[in-house]
Amino acid sequence: MHVVVLGAGLLGVTTAYYLAREGHQVTVIDRQKEPARETSYANAGLLTPGHAYAWASPRAPMILLKSLWREDTALRWRLKFDPGMWAWGLKFLANCTAARNRANTVIKVRLCSYSLAETAAVTAETGITWDRSQSGALYLYRDPDHFRAGKENFKLLAAEGVEAKTMDAEELASFEPSLAGVKDRFAGAIHTPHDESGDARKFTLALAEVCRARGVTFELGAGIRRINRNGDHITGVETDHGPIVGDAYVLALGSYSPLLTRPIGLKLPIYPVKGYSVTLPIADAETAPTHFGVDEANLVAFARLGDRLRLTATADFAGYDTSFEPQDFVHMLRVARELFPRAAAYDRPEYWACLRPMTPDGPPIMGRSPIANLWLNTGHGHIGWTMACGSSRIVVDRMLGRKPEIDDAPFLLSRY
Ligand SMILES: Cc1cc2nc3c(=O)[nH]c(=O)nc-3n(C[C@H](O)[C@H](O)[C@H](O)COP(=O)(O)OP(=O)(O)OC[C@H]3O[C@@H](n4cnc5c(N)ncnc54)[C@H](O)[C@@H]3O)c2cc1C
Repeated sequence: MHVVVLGAGLLGVTTAYYLAREGHQVTVIDRQKEPARETSYANAGLLTPGHAYAWASPRAPMILLKSLWREDTALRWRLKFDPGMWAWGLKFLANCTAARNRANTVIKVRLCSYSLAETAAVTAETGITWDRSQSGALYLYRDPDHFRAGKENFKLLAAEGVEAKTMDAEELASFEPSLAGVKDRFAGAIHTPHDESGDARKFTLALAEVCRARGVTFELGAGIRRINRNGDHITGVETDHGPIVGDAYVLALGSYSPLLTRPIGLKLPIYPVKGYSVTLPIADAETAPTHFGVDEANLVAFARLGDRLRLTATADFAGYDTSFEPQDFVHMLRVARELFPRAAAYDRPEYWACLRPMTPDGPPIMGRSPIANLWLNTGHGHIGWTMACGSSRIVVDRMLGRKPEIDDAPFLLSRY
């Protein structure tokens, strides 16, 4: 079978890997000159079943509402005339009940845990390196009530097998010595020992090399202009390099997926949610964090990736704009300077912004589409690095007529 994979981000390249492993002919198409140049380029780097909570929650509507007149919220809604945003927003609101939030979180954490094991298996099979850390994540709480609520919420993930240890500020200071000087600012922390971190771009590039060695063709710098449909079949894709035809097609275009499928009559409820990251060289390894994690009060994630410190924050509901200004990074840099004042070269920031492909309920859209030879692997939102290997394994298992190792019914497009 010749499979054409649309998109060379985390999801496209991992799909290509599993297909090539089974001996199939694979062509991967991307408009960028190398894999992982868009959302998979500089994410927070966390592989965290311990952070698999669905964003649509009872608290989310108020946070979004406040963001209309405040700049300092972690989720920011920008009012604009965008029917796609409003249609998506209504579906998001419908998922903001406590019951839907719990159900969506459980679906996500099962996929995350499965995927973490698959990421380890792919890494062992291929020998690729990606600045991996297996120190476990630290979720930091400043306020005692927030800490109590965090522990209460965690019970849902614990029931799904995610291990955690809680610690007070004193224990935190000896567990993560880089925070000893600011321990008084914290009520406590949750440590999830099996969460991991690493550079998603390095992983994707290294896996793409493995794919190439196994005969996968990468058609890069080839913008996809149109997908051609005839009846219930895809007949090819039109690219800047001309038409490309295969037997089956896997859509892994991240936030851009709905733009390419709308003209062929397939509506995908995915909306781009912009996030920002800054990467800094480590200046003083002694004071750099040994664990990765999240400052839950500020929703700033931090991870040491080899000799760099990566910080990320903010979710802007503002359409397909990927521009950024230095002021977009002030909040996360302020938090990092407070926590790790000497760890990084704060005068050498590398800024980045990109779009999380968010579904309104949270779980990605994977598996069969209503078009016979088109498969979906998209909409992984804020946690697509964690979910990538598991998702692609599931999609490829289904393509080859095998039953996936976890229940994939919750990921089908037909749930909408
Ligand atoms: C700030 C931020 C922090 C994050 N942190 C984490 C984290 O810590 N842990 C985690 O698990 N996840 C994280 N994520 C989410 C994760 O990065 C994404 O879910 C994941 O990268 C999505 O991968 P993808 O392959 O679907 O999309 P992409 O990486 O965007 O790949 C899609 C590809 O499609 C190509 N493409 C699009 N349109 C066309 C076209 N017309 N023609 C040709 N090619 C096209 C693009 O060039 C791109 O390469 C974060 C995201 C953001 C924004």
